[in-house]
Amino acid sequence: MALHNRILAGLLLGAGVGVSVNAVAGQSPWVDALVRNVTEPLGRMWLAALIMVVVPLIVSTLSLGVVGLGDLRRLGRIGLLTGGCFLTLTVLSTALGLTVMNLVQPGKSLDAATRQRLLETYGDQAKGAMGISTQSFGVELLVRIVPRNPIKAAADGDMLAIIFVALILGVALAGMSEPKREPMLKLLDSLAHVTVAIIELVMKLAPYGVFCLIVSVTARFGFGLLLSLLGYVSVVVGSLVAFQALVYPLAIKLIARRSPAEFLRQAKVVMLTAFSTSSSSATLPTTLRATQQGLGIRSEVAGFVIPLGATMNMNGTSLFEGITVLFLAQVFGVELSLGAQLVVVAMAVLTAVGTAGVPGGSLPLMMMVCAMVGVPMEGIAIVLGVDRILDMCRTVLNVTGDMVTAAIVDRLERGSRG
Ligand code: ASP
Repeated sequence: MALHNRILAGLLLGAGVGVSVNAVAGQSPWVDALVRNVTEPLGRMWLAALIMVVVPLIVSTLSLGVVGLGDLRRLGRIGLLTGGCFLTLTVLSTALGLTVMNLVQPGKSLDAATRQRLLETYGDQAKGAMGISTQSFGVELLVRIVPRNPIKAAADGDMLAIIFVALILGVALAGMSEPKREPMLKLLDSLAHVTVAIIELVMKLAPYGVFCLIVSVTARFGFGLLLSLLGYVSVVVGSLVAFQALVYPLAIKLIARRSPAEFLRQAKVVMLTAFSTSSSSATLPTTLRATQQGLGIRSEVAGFVIPLGATMNMNGTSLFEGITVLFLAQVFGVELSLGAQLVVVAMAVLTAVGTAGVPGGSLPLMMMVCAMVGVPMEGIAIVLGVDRILDMCRTVLNVTGDMVTAAIVDRLERGSRG
C-alpha cells in the first residue's frame, strides 16, 4: 500500500477508535491513564523523531539551495518572489477570515454561562501560554534573528535564527572558490542525504504514529464543547476549506500554470502528514520530498522556498489568528474599528512569520495580538479546548501554501530568465 494510504488508514482507524472510546467511556480515569501513559507518549516520540532532523535538514538544504542559485542577483530575485508570494497568500487568507467573521459574528451568540465555564476549565492552561508569550514577542524577536551563538539557537529550536545562519552559510559558500568550498559542500550534501534516510525510516512508522496521535486527541476530546463553539469552529474550518479549495488551485492554474488535480495528487501525502501531526516542522521533510520528486521542482528552488516556508509562511495560522482575535472581541463585547481590524491583519501576518511550526505554536503570539487591540488575553481559554482540531486543519494550509509558492516561484523565475 502507498504511504499516504497507510497514513490515511492510521488516521481513520485512530479517529474511529478514539471517538468510540470517547462515546463509551470518555470521562473514565482509565481512558485518561491510557492516553497519558501509552498513546500520547508514543505519538510524541514519533513526532520528536521527525522534528529531530529538522535543524540539520534546514541548514543543509537551505544553504545548498542558495549555493545552487549561484549568484547573488538570482538569490535576490528568487528571495523577492518568494517573500512576495508568502506575504500575498498570508494577507489574502487573513483578509478572507476577517471578512467571514464580520459577516457571521458567532462570538455574539455565545452565552455567558458557557463563556464562564470555558474560562474556568481552561484558565490554567491559558496562563501557561501567557508566560511564554511575553518572552517571545516584540523587538526581541527581531534581534534574536541574528544569533550570537548558532549552536545555542539550534539547540533552542530558534528557527528564524537557524534560517539566518543557513542563508549566510549559503551566500558565503557561493562566493568561494571551488577547491576551498568543495569539502564543505560534500559534507552538507551528505548531511542532507543522511537526514532524508532517517526520515524515510521514521516515516515507515507514520501510520502507527498518526494512529497514536489521533487516538489521543479524540479519546479525551470534549465533543460537547465543539457544539457550544460550533459557530466559531465552522467559521475557522469553512474559511480554511474555502482558501484551500479556491485560492490555491487558482494560483496553481493561473500563475504556476500546472494542473491543480495533479498538484493535489502530489500534495496529498503532505496534507495528510500535516493534518495528523499539527506541525509544519515535522512535515517539512515530506513537503521537501513531494515538492522535488512529486512536483518536479528544481532542487535549488525547492531547497530555498520549502525550508523558509515551513517557518515563515503560515497562511492557515494567520487566518486562524485573525478570526480568533475577532471572535474573542465579539465574546467580550470589545468593538474593533476598521483601523483596529487592519492592525489585527498586520499583526496576524507578522506573528505567523515568527510562529514555531509545532502544535499550538501560534497561541503565545496570538495572545499578544489580543492584548494589543484591547481583547483580554486570558480569554484564549475559551477556544483552547478545540484548538488541537483547528491546529490540525490550519497546518494543512501552512504546508500547502509552501508547495504552492515553490510552484509559482519555479514558474515565474523560469519565465523571467526566458
Ligand atoms: N501548528 C502550526 C504549524 O506547525 C502552528 C500553529 O498554528 O500553531 O504550522
